Amino acid sequence: MDPRGLDRLDQRVAGCRACPRLVDWREEVARTKRAAFADWTYWGRPVPGFGPADARLLIVGLAPAAHGGNRTGRMFTGDRSGDVLYQALYDVGLASQPGSTHAGDGLELYGVRVTSPVHCAPPANKPTPEERDTCRPWLVRELHLLRPTVRAALVLGAFGWQAALPAFAEAGWTVPRPR
Ligand code: SF4
Repeated sequence: MDPRGLDRLDQRVAGCRACPRLVDWREEVARTKRAAFADWTYWGRPVPGFGPADARLLIVGLAPAAHGGNRTGRMFTGDRSGDVLYQALYDVGLASQPGSTHAGDGLELYGVRVTSPVHCAPPANKPTPEERDTCRPWLVRELHLLRPTVRAALVLGAFGWQAALPAFAEAGWTVPRPR
C-alpha cells in the first residue's frame, strides 16, 4: 500500500467540483450555516475518506452531513451518526477516543477507514443517481489503493449498498449474486 497514493487521492477528492448541484448546495450551507455553528468556518468542500492507508476494515456510509462532515471536513465528524459510529469503534478498540468533534480533535482510527460513495453533502441527504454515478470513480480508486490490506467492508444503509456494490464490482472485487 502506498500511503502517499491515498493522500494524493484525498487531496484530489477535496478539490472536486464535478456535480454542479452539490457544489452549489455545500457552499450555500457553508455560507448560511446553522445558528448553533455560526462561529464556525465551514469546510464546504468534498469530504475525503478518513483512516489509515493499511486499513483492514472499510466502513462505507452514504454522504457527508450538511452540518457534520460538510462543516468539519472529516467523515462522520460533528453529527449524531458520527457520535454513534466512533463510540462503537472506540468500544471495540478501533478508535483512539469515543468522541469526534472537529478535524483536529486527535481522533485516530486503528485498522479502519471510513468513506462514502458520495463525497459532498446532498440536499435532504439524497444525491441523485447521476451524482452517485459521477462520484463512483473516487471510491473505485480508493478501493484499488486499499485492496492490499482490506479484508471486510461494512456498508451502512440501503443507499450505501446501492452505490457501493457497483464500485466494488468496478474495482474487481467479487460481488455475490443475488446481491
Ligand atoms: S459528489 Fe463526488 S463527484 Fe460530485 S462534486 Fe462531490 S466529490 Fe465531486
